Amino acid sequence: MNVTVSAEKNNIIFGPINSRRFGMSLGIDLSPSHKQCNFDCLYCELAPSVTVKSQSKTITVASIINELKPHLNDTIDVITLTANGEPTLYPLLDELIEQIDLIKKDTQTLILTNSATLVDDNIFNSLLKLDQVKLSLDAISEDIFTKIDRPHKSIDISQVVDKVIAFSEVYTGKLFIEILFVYELNDTKEEIQKLNEVLKHIKCHRVDLGTIDRPPAYPVSGISYKELHSISLMFDKALPIHIASRTHAEPNNSSYTDEEIVNTLDKRPLTIDDINLLFDKETISRFERMLKDTTLSTKNVGNLVFYIPTTNIQRKRIK
Ligand code: SF4
Repeated sequence: MNVTVSAEKNNIIFGPINSRRFGMSLGIDLSPSHKQCNFDCLYCELAPSVTVKSQSKTITVASIINELKPHLNDTIDVITLTANGEPTLYPLLDELIEQIDLIKKDTQTLILTNSATLVDDNIFNSLLKLDQVKLSLDAISEDIFTKIDRPHKSIDISQVVDKVIAFSEVYTGKLFIEILFVYELNDTKEEIQKLNEVLKHIKCHRVDLGTIDRPPAYPVSGISYKELHSISLMFDKALPIHIASRTHAEPNNSSYTDEEIVNTLDKRPLTIDDINLLFDKETISRFERMLKDTTLSTKNVGNLVFYIPTTNIQRKRIK
C-alpha cells in the first residue's frame, strides 16, 4: 500500500460549531485533502467517490496536534474527530487519541464513525479510549444497507452489527447511535422492526433519528419531520430515541388535551423543539402549566433536555 504522509498545514481544524447534540464542538478533519471513505452513501454531502479500505494520503499526528493546540480553550465541550470520509481509516488514530488526551484537560473527545471498522480489533480498542462515540447504523438488512451506504465490498453488515453490540457492552463513555432515514429505503415497517430488535441489544446513551439535511451525493430524498415522529413511535418505548433532524419540519400545530400530552410524552419523551413543532399555542400553554404543577418533568440525555411525565420517571426509579 502506498501511503503519502503530509505534514503541511491543511485546514485540519474547523469550528468551533455549536452543535445541539454535542455542544460546542471543535472539529478535526482526518482527511483534509480529499474524500477517503469505505462507504459511498447515497445521502453523503460530499461528492460520490470510489470506496477505499485505507487512506492513501494521510497527515502526521504532529501536524494535527500543532494545529489543535492554539484552538483549545474552556468554551469547547468536545473535540470531534471527523473527516472528508471515514475518520477511523486514519492509520495513526490510536497515537492521535493518546496525544490529544495529554492536552485536552476537561474537554471531551468524540468520533463520528460509520461503524464498519469496528470489525478491526485495533480500531475497536482505540475507540474505547474516547469519551464519546457516535456510531451510524442505517440498516440491518444486507440489501438495504448495500443500497443506502454503498459499502466497500469487504464489509459485511451482520459482522458490523455484532461488533456494535459488543462495543456497547464494554464501552464506558457516552455512546450515541445515529440512524439516517432515506425515503422509500430504510423507512419501511420491516426494516424499522429489525433496527428496533438490534437496538434493544445496544447499550447506548441516545439514539438519534435523522434524515437528509443537506444536498445528497445521489438523487434521493429525506422524509418529513412528521414521518420521523411516526417512526420514533415504532421503536421500543424504553429506547432513548431522539428526533435529531428538523430540516423537513413543518409545524404540526395540533391541539392536545392534558391526557393526550401525557400519553404523547409517555410514548416518546420530546425536546422543546419537538414540542414547538407538534403542539399548537393553546397546547403549549397547557404543557407549561403541567410543567409548573409537576405533572411533567425534565430529563437530561447527553446535551439535550427531554420532557417526560413525572409518573414515568417515578416508575423507572422504582424498577
Ligand atoms: S460514511 Fe459519511 S463520509 Fe462516508 S460516504 Fe457515508 S456519509 Fe459520506
